[in-house]
Amino acid sequence: MILRLHDVWKTYQESGGRERHALHGVSLSVASGTSVAVTGRSGSGKSTLLHLAAGIDEPTRGSVFLLDRELSRLSDRERTLERRNRVGLVFQFFHLLPHLSVIENVGLPGRIAGDPDRVWMPRAKALLARVGLDDRATDAVGQLSGGEMQRVALCRALLRRPALLLADEPTGNLDDENGRLVMDLLLSLARDEGAALVYVTHSADLAAMADERRHLVSGEWE
Ligand code: ADP
Ligand code: MG
Repeated sequence: MILRLHDVWKTYQESGGRERHALHGVSLSVASGTSVAVTGRSGSGKSTLLHLAAGIDEPTRGSVFLLDRELSRLSDRERTLERRNRVGLVFQFFHLLPHLSVIENVGLPGRIAGDPDRVWMPRAKALLARVGLDDRATDAVGQLSGGEMQRVALCRALLRRPALLLADEPTGNLDDENGRLVMDLLLSLARDEGAALVYVTHSADLAAMADERRHLVSGEWE
């Protein structure tokens, strides 16, 4: 298994000392090359689940294993390195750097990790070709359409060949046609690369494209 959540709880302390359980007792296993779609109403714990899987946040109880390493047993530094080396993230609002070019955005995780240009540049070009944006490589990313921006973000997430790809409402800011295109690319790239994929969506049609579907209700699987 690439990702394993075992009986995970996430509890927030509210003002007045009351506790709010964003997740209670959630388990999940995702194998390499397979995909899971997570659905649920706003506030049901979907983003919390992805943050725990990425090691951005820590569970209050229970354990998260990424490639058999338990994230909460690592130091902050080790957890950051695990995330950089093993996890690709895709967000609803792309989170691209508008003053950088398309290929600079795709290459950013490589540069942050200290990879030389000769390593990340050909990989970035190949990924851009795969999503049909090779002719836009030197354009400012701010000139692109939303659908194009999300395809750039997809390339950036995959640059360093992550074992796990996490996408939080990746089509939430796109029209149906572009959403479908991005989802097709996300699923086929993850499968080709052998990455495990977990994505959050509000669309039953897009959820149906995953190997497995899970539905969260108030922090628990339905
Ligand atoms: P979703 O992504 O499904 O909309 P979230 O995972 O963002 O839901 O949030 C789940 C619940 O946890 C919500 O009730 C939310 O208000 C609460 N929550 C999330 N982050 C925090 C936080 N930092 N502090 C307090 N409560 C939070
Ligand atoms: Mg959310």
